[in-house]
Parts: sequence; structure tokens; C-alpha cells
Amino acid sequence: MAETGRDSLLWNGNTETPALLASRCRDCGTKGFPPRTVCGQCYSTIQERITLPRRGTVFAFCRLFSRGDSYGKGPQTVGYILLEDGMLIPARLLFGDELLQIGTPVVLSAGPGKPPPEKTEQQSAYYFVPENKGEGRWR
Ligand SMILES: [Zn+2]
Repeated sequence: MAETGRDSLLWNGNTETPALLASRCRDCGTKGFPPRTVCGQCYSTIQERITLPRRGTVFAFCRLFSRGDSYGKGPQTVGYILLEDGMLIPARLLFGDELLQIGTPVVLSAGPGKPPPEKTEQQSAYYFVPENKGEGRWR
């Protein structure tokens, strides 16, 4: 059975078939992630919920080194993913160092995330992984 994520505004919480949630303006077609209630282009309040493509490429990334490791041991990698529909979104990446480069094809995935401070139960989180994830080292 799939875990349920806590960021229900951002994704469907399904670790088996994760999907990012967004909005699309019915007046001008502008998409928003996270989902918007007001269009950033035309200020229309008529917004529909959509899901974003699961595939894209790495547009930019950086490694974060901090003492407070919110997603487990080791540094984290975050960046921007250019989705198949042309949308650019921020996301966490799970990559082996040797595979991480601009333009690498990636796919949305999900798994265990950090428990929120007020809870002890494990929560799930979404992230992007390389499409050819059989290679390399993961973190
Ligand atoms: Zn609009």
C-alpha cells in the first residue's frame, strides 16, 4: 500500500504513482506550481487543478551541506527540473555524484521522507531520479 505524503498541496502523496499537482488558468492557460488560486498573469480566479508531466531534464542544481540533515544522512541535492511541457519547477534530486549534470533525463519518484517535528510517524516525499537509475551511487 502506498504511503501518504504530507505535502498534499504539491503532490498526490502516492509513492507508487507520484504526481505533482499544479493549476492552470482557464482564462489564459498559465500554469502554476504549487497550485495557485489567482493567476499570476491575468489575475483570474478561475483555476483548474492539473497534474504535471513526470519526466523532464535537470536545468540547474546545487549540493547543500548542512548539519541538520532533514532527509537523512549526507548532503542534499536540490535544483530545477525542466518538465516535458516546458514548465520549470524546483525539486529535490536523488543522484549519484558521477551522474549529476545539466540536461540529464529525470523522472518523478517518491519514498520515505523526514518525519515532521511534531510527529513520529514516517512521512513520504517526492524527488526526481535519473531515468537510468540502475547506475551510480544514490543519496
Ligand atoms: Zn490567467
